[in-house]
Amino acid sequence: MKTILEIQKLDRQIRALEREVEKCPASIDFNKYKAALQTGRERFNQLEAQASEIIKNFNVANNRFSKYRGDSDIIRKRNTSSINLDNISNLISDANSLLGDLSEENRRVEDLVRKSEEIVRRSAELSQKLTEAKLRSKSIKEKIEAKKQEVAPKIAEIEKKIKALEPKIVDKDKYEKYKEMKEKGIFPVYVPIEENFCGGCKVELPLNFVEKLKTKKMLPCEHCGRIIMLDK
Ligand SMILES: [Zn+2]
Repeated sequence: MKTILEIQKLDRQIRALEREVEKCPASIDFNKYKAALQTGRERFNQLEAQASEIIKNFNVANNRFSKYRGDSDIIRKRNTSSINLDNISNLISDANSLLGDLSEENRRVEDLVRKSEEIVRRSAELSQKLTEAKLRSKSIKEKIEAKKQEVAPKIAEIEKKIKALEPKIVDKDKYEKYKEMKEKGIFPVYVPIEENFCGGCKVELPLNFVEKLKTKKMLPCEHCGRIIMLDK
C-alpha cells in the first residue's frame, strides 16, 4: 500500500503540471475564444432567421402590391367613358383610399429594407470580429503548445519514477482499482479519514461507517467512491 500511495503522490505532481498548462493565461484566452466563437455562431443563426423572416414579409408585400397593378378590378371599373359628374366624387374617394393603401404598403417595405440593411451591417461586423478572433487563436495555440513542451520533460521524469515503483507493488488488486478510478477522473483515489469526514469529498461520514472502518481499515466513500483509509 505504501508504494501505491507513493505513486499517488507522484501522480499528483503530474496533475499539478497538467493544471499549470490548463490554467496558463493562453489556455484561459483560448477558452474565451471558443466561447466567443460559439456565441458568434448562435448570433449568425439568429441573423439568418431574421433575414428569412424579412424575405417572407417581402413576398407578402409583393403579393399585396400586385392587386394595385393596372389590370386590377379597381382600375378596370374606372374606364374614362363611365366617368360623369355623378360618380366623380366616388372615384376621387376610391383614388384617395388607394393612395392611402399604397403609401401604407410603401412604409412597410421601407421598414423591411431598413431591417435588412441592419442585418447585413451586423453580419459584416460579426464576421470581422470572428476573423480577428481566429487570427488571434493561432498565436494563443502556439503559446499553449510552448507551455506543454515546457512541462513535458518534467512529466516524463515523474512517469519514469512511477514505472520504477510499479514492480514493488504488493497489492496488485488495489493498484488496478487505483488505475481504474484514476482513469475515470476520480483523484486522489486513496484518501485518509479526517476527523469523521471523507478526506476526498469532505462529506461527513455516518457513525456506523466510521465503526466499520475501524475493523475493515479501508472502505469506499458512499458519497464520492474514493477509498477511505483508516491509517494515514
Ligand atoms: Zn468522499
